[in-house]
Amino acid sequence: MLTNDVLDQWDRENFFHPSTHLAQHARGESASRIISGAKDCHIEDRNGNRVLDGFAGLYCVNAGYGRREITDAIAKQASELSYYHAYAGHGTEASITLAKMVMDRAPAHMSKVYFGLGGSDANETNIKLLWYYNNILGRPEKKKVISRWRGYHGSGLMTGSLTGLSLFHAKFDLPLDGVLHTVAPDFFRRENLEQSEAEFVAYCVEHLEEMIALEGADTIAAFIGEPVLGTGGIVPPPEGYWAAIQAVLQKHDIALIADEVVTGFGRLGSMFGSDHYDLKPDFITIAKGLTSAYAPLSGSIVSDKVWKVLEQGADENGVMGHGWTYAAHPIGAAAGVANLQLIEDLDLIGNARDVGAYLNQQMRAAVGDHPHVGDVRGEGMLCAVELVKDREGRKFYDPADKIGVQVVAALLSSGVIGRAMPQGDIIGFAPPFCLTRAEADEIVEKTKAAIHQVLGA
Ligand code: PMP
Repeated sequence: MLTNDVLDQWDRENFFHPSTHLAQHARGESASRIISGAKDCHIEDRNGNRVLDGFAGLYCVNAGYGRREITDAIAKQASELSYYHAYAGHGTEASITLAKMVMDRAPAHMSKVYFGLGGSDANETNIKLLWYYNNILGRPEKKKVISRWRGYHGSGLMTGSLTGLSLFHAKFDLPLDGVLHTVAPDFFRRENLEQSEAEFVAYCVEHLEEMIALEGADTIAAFIGEPVLGTGGIVPPPEGYWAAIQAVLQKHDIALIADEVVTGFGRLGSMFGSDHYDLKPDFITIAKGLTSAYAPLSGSIVSDKVWKVLEQGADENGVMGHGWTYAAHPIGAAAGVANLQLIEDLDLIGNARDVGAYLNQQMRAAVGDHPHVGDVRGEGMLCAVELVKDREGRKFYDPADKIGVQVVAALLSSGVIGRAMPQGDIIGFAPPFCLTRAEADEIVEKTKAAIHQVLGA
């Protein structure tokens, strides 16, 4: 067996890691962590550390680690038929069954699912299909997309542009033309502290209306948003936000893309965030929870309205020219079928709802009054603690102080993984849905201890 030292050296010499401080990693300044195993809500590294994964990987291992039902389905699929493509009407039992299972669970007005590999490519698909749709409808000018600051929609050229976080734009020449960003629906971080929640929603709507008026509704194809802002800080929308935004979009015939890569399949305690907030999207993006990350698979779910137009739009060859080699990969599809079945059999969405509410309630009780905690918020199995320099005046820390990163490091050394969200000193939690109340207590107690350790009592 390879020693840790050898792996560490090979890693630094050869492995170009995503979203990593490249120079620090190559110099060996940041600890390289080699994960070797996992079960339920815990992961283990090669140094024998076993920690509670309060972020389910990248909020994706919703069913928990080490589920035999899913790994057996993958092994069976791999040995019977490891691959066949989905072009020109080809399918497999797994991909066809999964499409049926997804559509049985999706909101009633949705029509079909186009499978991809990850959330980024599914959002790229959504935008391409929207352009295709507007070309078929004879509206070639209607192509711009409105996203929100602090939204996260992927790391591709278009999806990295839609993402509203400076880290994903700087020095990459993004955002591309045709992508616009409107106000993040983050009531805690509103600029005008005098605003009530209702006034803040009115301000978000006003900003959107002004943007549409300035650009012209006939140039705007879509608005994309996560039902709950995820990577931008785990921020549930203010009361009435989605109803008000949807009314504006409907008035101007602008399509809604609900990016449910995080919220799809139960993270909010409802099957979809669209059910949770009564959204009527034209597209729903799904990924992570579709397979609980046992294999890569994503999807773009399109509405009846969109499908009816797409169907007419074939070129003179009769072919829609958009596809990936691994779209609807049978191993991912087999994982998806077993995962969705398991989630239902064990009522894991019910557990996400119950234990998620408990986690949020206990977190609020434990740290909500701390002088450097500005906000504790969440929905379903999502929870965040936002740290501030001055609670009364809502003053934020200098990002260079890396307070959130320090708290997360202290938390990790006590045996719990939280995530320092990329913008602001926000500690995020998105555990697997099988989290127990005792594990929720452990997350809360250790978060409190880590905050005290870094910021004092
Ligand atoms: N959309 C959302 C809401 C996400 O959270 C993510 C990933 N965190 C993506 C899209 C991109 O997914 P992927 O990393 O699988 O490309």
